[in-house]
Amino acid sequence: MTQLQAWLDDPAVAAGLRQAAALFRRSRHAVALVGAGLSAESGIPTYRGAGGVYDRFGEPTIDGWELFTQDPAAWWEAAIAHEAAGSALSAAIDAAAPNPGHYAMADLEHMGRLAHTITQNIDNLHFVAGSRQVTEIHGNRYRVRCIECGARERLETVRLDRLPPTCPSCGGIYKNDVVMFGEPIPRDAIEACYRETLAADLFMTVGTSAVVYPAADFPVLAKRRGAPLIEVNPEETPLSEIADVVIRAPAGVALPALVDLLLVP
Ligand code: NAD
Repeated sequence: MTQLQAWLDDPAVAAGLRQAAALFRRSRHAVALVGAGLSAESGIPTYRGAGGVYDRFGEPTIDGWELFTQDPAAWWEAAIAHEAAGSALSAAIDAAAPNPGHYAMADLEHMGRLAHTITQNIDNLHFVAGSRQVTEIHGNRYRVRCIECGARERLETVRLDRLPPTCPSCGGIYKNDVVMFGEPIPRDAIEACYRETLAADLFMTVGTSAVVYPAADFPVLAKRRGAPLIEVNPEETPLSEIADVVIRAPAGVALPALVDLLLVP
């Protein structure tokens, strides 16, 4: 028996998948909140959880945004040096490709079953897999964002010979689009997250430890407004006890199986 089949033969997982499929069939505006767990099977380590980045290297400093605002040029110099020295997480993201879980999320969207994905991931893999209705609440590693007008640009098109780089539209300073500790979530992203959460008649979390705010609030808010909550995560989280359906399996196994169930009329 394959490892994958073993997950699907677990009666609790199979029952959870059937219940989730029934909820998706009844839903008109399903919204998903995704965390680092979705990309774990693409070889990108999570922050939390067994073997995560925090386990191995400790928690990062929490003054990133303060350092950036104090001296953006120095921050860019340090960021470029850090990349050149090679960071384990950056290298893993650069080498990664979407896994069956990402493709299943895109399938759900294209089948008209999933209206929107709010992702905490910065790795761009939803877009590579074909999802389009996506809000990246923590930004995207391959983009920069103007801290004045909010315009985003592909990092590879930005000249880094004079630091800090600036926005051609308004002259504001560019920073990497990835939201740092202490940095406010960009307004367009946070507005989209609340708009979608309030519109949700079904909410699904995938691979998130649900402890990073404000993202962790969205499932709670949707549930309070009457949307059933589905959790896909091999480990327990603070959301598990309020979830209507819990699927304790890796996303790369559970989500394709959910798509298969929804393909059957
Ligand atoms: P997290 O690292 O805090 O938690 C990951 C969760 O995924 C855990 O609950 C774990 O049980 C679960 N998980 C592990 N493997 C899984 C699998 N195969 N299928 C389903 N679930 C699985 O992640 P978080 O909740 O997203 O929050 C942390 C922050 O980490 C976010 O802000 C995000 O920006 C950042 N982050 C992003 C990436 C990425 O872009 N891929 C990677 C690491 C961290």
